[in-house]
Amino acid sequence: MLERPLFVIAAPSGGGKNSVITILLEEEPRLVHSVSSTTRQRRAHEIDGKHYYFLSHEEFERRIAAGEFLEYARVLDNYYGTEIREIERIQAEGKFPILDIDVQGVQTLRSKNIPMVSVFILPPSLEELERRLRARGTENEEQIKKRLELARWEISQKDQFDHIVLNDVLSRAAAEVLAILRNHM
Ligand code: 5GP
Repeated sequence: MLERPLFVIAAPSGGGKNSVITILLEEEPRLVHSVSSTTRQRRAHEIDGKHYYFLSHEEFERRIAAGEFLEYARVLDNYYGTEIREIERIQAEGKFPILDIDVQGVQTLRSKNIPMVSVFILPPSLEELERRLRARGTENEEQIKKRLELARWEISQKDQFDHIVLNDVLSRAAAEVLAILRNHM
């Protein structure tokens, strides 16, 4: 496992990361989304096994204890993690996994010396981030506040990443990320 670098994309919640990743997957068939496991509640449009593997708190902790995670973190009162078997599944197909994880997850991978190419998607401003988060309408006021607070911290950590890409115009940002990843394929 891990004979190739992992492609890791992080961005504050609402930063347009999902839209960038959707374009990457459409444009480059060698890229495959690494589906994370989480204890967060499923949003109405989300599909188990596609957006996330939705697990109970107990099951997630059982898998932590069994050493099944490459990395995991507690984000906003829930667990999120990348299972080793998910990465192995994608690499066995000869494809490159794209990990959409938080800054803590990236720090964990780095501390384990796992080869990776890390990209931070930077929103144009905190005001714009707040506007996008509200427009999405999936969080209540308290959750929005928490996500904005977390975003401020995540943005302060951006210099730890190999690349920082400004998400001013979605198509331009996605093209920039794709060019970076293709350099490592
Ligand atoms: P959301 O609840 O908006 O889907 O995700 C919240 C945060 O959790 C995002 O920053 C997302 O990147 C992060 N996240 C999702 N999956 C993982 C994972 O497997 N590991 C880590 N460390 N963070 C994750």
